[in-house]
Amino acid sequence: MKIKADREVCVGAGMCVLTAAELFDQDDDEGRVLVLQPEPHPDQVAAAREAVELCPSGALSLEEG
Ligand code: SF4
Repeated sequence: MKIKADREVCVGAGMCVLTAAELFDQDDDEGRVLVLQPEPHPDQVAAAREAVELCPSGALSLEEG
């Protein structure tokens, strides 16, 4: 599984960081998402799915496989 983030779509709400701080961060300038770990460990997959669901802008997606 791979985490994809569209930084053009991200509104910097920070839900992803609040949900999974080990997977996401925000840049200092605009607060847009940075993916720290594009390929989450199996024990981080649930958090990754939750972050994708909670993202208000739809900037995050998961590539299965
Ligand atoms: S939750 Fe979505 S909109 Fe908010 S910072 Fe993360 S990727 Fe961007």
